[in-house]
Order: sequence, then structure tokens, then C-alpha cells
Amino acid sequence: MAPAKDARFDVIIIGGGPAGATLGSLLGMNGYRPLLIEKDIHPRDHVGESITPSTNPIFKQIGFLEKMESARFVHKPGACWTAPRSPAGKFVSLRLGEFPPPNAPQLYTYNVERDEFDTLLLRHAHEMGVKVLQGVKVQKVLFEGERAVGVRAQVADGWERDLSARVVVDASGRRCMIANQLGLRRKDPVFNQFGIYSWFKDVEPNPPGFEGFLFLHFLDLERCWAWQIPMRNGICSVGVVTDKADFQKSGRSHDEFFRSLVGRNQNLAHNMRNAKQVRPWWIEGDYSYVVDRLSGPGWLLVGDALRFVDPIFSTGVDVAAYSALYAFEAIHATLTGGDEDRLFQDYAQRVGDGVEAWYDLISLFYKLQNLFTIYAVKKRFREKVVRILQGNLYIPESLERAREIIEIMEASYQRVMNDPDNLLRPGALSHVPVA
Ligand SMILES: Cc1cc2nc3c(=O)[nH]c(=O)nc-3n(C[C@H](O)[C@H](O)[C@H](O)COP(=O)(O)OP(=O)(O)OC[C@H]3O[C@@H](n4cnc5c(N)ncnc54)[C@H](O)[C@@H]3O)c2cc1C
Repeated sequence: MAPAKDARFDVIIIGGGPAGATLGSLLGMNGYRPLLIEKDIHPRDHVGESITPSTNPIFKQIGFLEKMESARFVHKPGACWTAPRSPAGKFVSLRLGEFPPPNAPQLYTYNVERDEFDTLLLRHAHEMGVKVLQGVKVQKVLFEGERAVGVRAQVADGWERDLSARVVVDASGRRCMIANQLGLRRKDPVFNQFGIYSWFKDVEPNPPGFEGFLFLHFLDLERCWAWQIPMRNGICSVGVVTDKADFQKSGRSHDEFFRSLVGRNQNLAHNMRNAKQVRPWWIEGDYSYVVDRLSGPGWLLVGDALRFVDPIFSTGVDVAAYSALYAFEAIHATLTGGDEDRLFQDYAQRVGDGVEAWYDLISLFYKLQNLFTIYAVKKRFREKVVRILQGNLYIPESLERAREIIEIMEASYQRVMNDPDNLLRPGALSHVPVA
């Protein structure tokens, strides 16, 4: 069935995070009538502060990059990481400028306070022609047969209204509005991560020459790492991610648990020795899942609503921005007479393959962190690794590059695991349980 021509809106977007606001901007700029419905009233806090350079061209395309620059978000020219036992000041680094992406508008990306970033982007979408309703919750998506035809919107005082559109896009983040309604969301069988973070003052500043770099610190527990993200006004976001079972087993308070993990990496412990917490803990749990279908008649999923993979490579806003771009292209082609069925399926395939590649890379990385570091420093592979970490695995060339590296690393992983004396094997170095 083709999209209804008499619907009040061309597209209804559920959610005003980066995915929804980017899609809205593209639709508004191109003369469509999009309605974006956001349950909260921005600014609202959100996790996900370090973004990838792959987002620069999309934010430039929608005219938003200039606004990010004017907001003076901290420039992020690269990333560093440290091993649990590396002495303070010893780290591996990757710099974006080493291998600039083709047509890169600039050689850095940003660390962003998400309350302000998301507000600016949503306001930008409004300026581009999107009708934005804030403080309004989508209660459910309306279907006629299998076709999504609109949404039921609801305000806190009970006011409810059905609104129709030619296409409905779910950008509701980890709420996964459509996937939950249709029973398409499954918990990830491997990852059951738990994240705890806050903002701090008086964290040791990054060394000269590495200002603005994201630091990842590995902790000697399986699937466990910490981020250190320098932000504006001397504030640093520091968070740890670990298997949820580790937190449950520890029987500790959030505060004690966080501090015990900080102590598991010499660099992080050194950097945090004078740190003062300036806001309450923020907890994130149970966030990894997979969704069985990313599109259907009259509907598409974008951003976290389509899948969530572990955040170790800062891929969340990359997925949000690219899925928004490709969703726009599929919707535009459909609304100008293209075959919706094929276009939406192509969209799902493209975005699904890219996110799957992220997932495989992240899984490999967790299996053997040392191996990843070795590939990153090896001259022969460094460019490939840097380009992958720059983001955007949705174009054939970058997807191929990612698949190639995944295959090579998987073969190395098997070699390591088949050799009981190999020092890279997990457990070859002492494995210390949570203190
Ligand atoms: C521990 C952790 C660390 C992370 N670190 C990073 C990082 O460093 N870099 C990075 O890029 N990403 C990171 N992420 C991921 C990042 O937070 C998300 O990928 C990103 O915010 C996705 O954007 P989105 O627009 O899809 O969803 P969101 O930003 O979550 O926006 C969804 C919006 O939909 C609204 N909404 C939900 N339900 C409804 C409803 N029923 N009706 C109306 N509105 C609704 C919500 O209020 C929200 O504003 C991290 C995630 C976690 C858990």
C-alpha cells in the first residue's frame, strides 16, 4: 500500500534526540511537513558525550556544524587508551588528522554536554521547518492493517489526540516505541552492561598536545572500561562500564563501586586523585538489544530505536545521524513516487549491516583488547583501524574495510586461543576479581 496522500503530516517523528532532530532538519529543509513529538522538555540530561568525526559532514549538510562551533563545545581531535597496568602518563593515541576522512570539513569532532547539544539540535530542526511538540508523549503508533498511519499523542493531564502521517519514524531512543509495540525487541544475548558516570572538577588535565582527546581506560575485568571526556569549564565526564553481574556481586553502593573500579587502572586512579564530583551519579543498565525488523509499511526505525550496541567506540550519535540521513533519502524517494517496500527494505539492510559491523568489532574488541591495540599500532593496519574508528560503516567501502579487519582479527584471535602459552590470552595475565 502506498503512503496516504491526505494525511495531515508527511512524517511523524517520535523523539527529539539527535536521530529525530537530524531527520526532522533534513525533511524540513526539503519542503516536507514533519511533526516531531518529544515527551520531555529540552534541555534534558542524556548520556553520550563524545562523538565521532563521521557526524561532521551530516551536521554540515543540515547547517548545524556552525552552531556547534559557536557553542564552543570542546574540540576532540582523537582518542587515547590506557591498559590497566600502564604507568601514569603512558597511553596509545590515535589522531584524526593522521588519516583525514575524504571531504572532511575539519580535523576534529566534539565532546558535548548532551543537554545543550540536544536542545540546540532540536531548536535547529524547528528553524528548518519542523513542527515540534515538547512535553507530549506518543502513547502508541496507529496501524491500519500492517500499515503505520499515525500516532496517539498524550499530554500529562490526560489530553489525547490521534495524528495521521504518510510515514511514522521511531526515533524514541532506547524506549523503542515501535519495536516494543510489535514485539520485535530482544535483549542482547552477550552484553548485559551497566554504566555509572558523573561529572567532576579537578581531574588531571590531558597532557599537552592531547587537549580534548577522549581517554578510554581498560580495567582488568571482562568487558570493563572507563571513559574520561574533557568538557567545557574545566568539567570532565568520567564513567565506567562493566558487566551488570559484577556490580550485583559486589554488594557495594554506587559510590564505592565506582571508586573501586577507578582504582583498577593506574592512569585513571592518578587522573582522579583530586577529582571532586559535581553532580549526582547517572546510572544506565540493560541497554544492549537487537531489533528483528528495522522497517515496515509506513514505518522506519532510526538511532537507538533500531538497535543499541555497547558504547565503547562512541558510535551512538554516528548511528543516529547516519540512520537519519538514509531514512530521509528513503522517505524522500518514497514520497516522490518510489517503491516504498523496496526503498525501506534497502534502508534497513544498509543501516542494519553497518550496525552489525560495529557489533562484531566491539565483540572482538572485548574478546581480546590487547589484540586491538596491537593492530592499532601496527603500521600496516593503523590506517584501517583509524578509519573505522572515525565512524560511518554504512557505505560499501568502509563496510568492506571493517569486514576485512574483523576477519583478520578473528583469525589472530583463533591463533591466540589455540596456543595455551600465548601471553595475549585472557587469563594469561593474572585476573583479579572485584575487590
Ligand atoms: C553508558 C553509555 C555511554 C554512551 N556514550 C556515548 C558516546 O560517548 N558517544 C555516543 O555517540 N553515544 C554514546 N552513547 C549512546 C547515545 O546515548 C545514543 O546512541 C544517542 O543518544 C542516540 O540518539 P537517539 O536520538 O536515537 O535517542 P535519544 O538521544 O535517546 O533520544 C530519544 C528521545 O525520544 C524521546 N522519547 C522516548 N519515548 C518517547 C515517546 N513515547 N514519545 C515522545 N518522545 C519519546 C526521549 O525523551 C528522547 O529525548 C552512550 C550510551 C550509553 C548507555
